[in-house]
Amino acid sequence: MLVDVISPKFKTTCVTQSRRSEIDMNNIPFGKIFSDHMYIVKYENGKWGQPEIKPYGTMEMTPSISALHYGQAIFEGMKAYRGQNDEVLLFRPKDNLRRFNHSANRLCMPEVTEELFIDGVKELVKLDKQWIPSPEQGTLYIRPCMFAIDEAVGVKASDSYLFVIFTCPVGPYYKEPVNLLATKEYTRAAIGGMGNAKAAGNYAAALLPDKIAKSQGYHNVLWLDARLHQYIEECGTMNIFFVIGNSVVTPQLTGTILAGVTRDSVIRLLMDNAETLGVTVEKRRISIYELDEAYNQREFHEAFGAGTAAVISHINKIGFAGRDMVLPPVSERKIGPWLYKTLYEIQTGILPDPYGWVVKVD
Ligand SMILES: *Cc1c(COP(=O)(O)O)cnc(C)c1O
Repeated sequence: MLVDVISPKFKTTCVTQSRRSEIDMNNIPFGKIFSDHMYIVKYENGKWGQPEIKPYGTMEMTPSISALHYGQAIFEGMKAYRGQNDEVLLFRPKDNLRRFNHSANRLCMPEVTEELFIDGVKELVKLDKQWIPSPEQGTLYIRPCMFAIDEAVGVKASDSYLFVIFTCPVGPYYKEPVNLLATKEYTRAAIGGMGNAKAAGNYAAALLPDKIAKSQGYHNVLWLDARLHQYIEECGTMNIFFVIGNSVVTPQLTGTILAGVTRDSVIRLLMDNAETLGVTVEKRRISIYELDEAYNQREFHEAFGAGTAAVISHINKIGFAGRDMVLPPVSERKIGPWLYKTLYEIQTGILPDPYGWVVKVD
């Protein structure tokens, strides 16, 4: 039996028995445990309907829905953090909304409003607040997604869509530094394609190269540009930064790179602390050969990935053309560890947030 709560904005059906007590928050597998509720709203006849929050579970659909065939499917990834006084904090949620709508436009899908997206996230997270791990235990990962549900096998933009949000508690992302393999054989995105959209198809295309990299002892692919196969774009599903001499270099956005919220935050923090850290930030093209050259000159000091899931992911080595560039141990690094600590402490309210990035859910 379910309890119905009708709020003016959301039709909410709560679970009668939460699954929360069955979960060991000190030992959470990434992305496999889902909180009690999900949020769902349907687009049809040219408009969004009434959003509904209901118990997380299966959705009925036919095999002909067009998302399954032609890939009109996009998503976002964001987190809710438990703050110092048990308050619930989001990090730059409007940037996720903006990017979601950018992805929607690229894939010929309807935009969502701030009310549908931000208020939906807030309402869901508030309802499942007890699913947010403590700062030591982890965070609550939030997954908004939209997909086409027209039952039709003709190739065309769908007329109907579902916008769904669900959440999962995730443990702290203490990972060992990652090994990357740069390859000229596969590319993630080409100019004019949809590399700068968080579209499901991008990730399907990355699975095979990723599998090959893993079979060779690496964790992820270091993506190179599709035309010349030498300019570095991203690593796995993260943006990438290199510390070369006194510069922190990250590839400039060209349309093939996903514009990460973490990337943008890292650039801001580095710019505002350039003097203390003794570095300058450069957004520019950087080729794998330049990296190799800097490595030979002993000027290549650090590399790290930046993304919501891991925040900062230190890179141990980069394989290219049969050779590995092996970087110093994390304990000897300065920039990556400082960024991780600073971002984490802003996100969880330990440090004051001078940027207006942190949004309290009340
Ligand atoms: C999501 C994503 C990122 C990181 O974006 P954040 O907003 O920082 O989480 C980077 N690259 C790709 C391909 C991504 O999908």
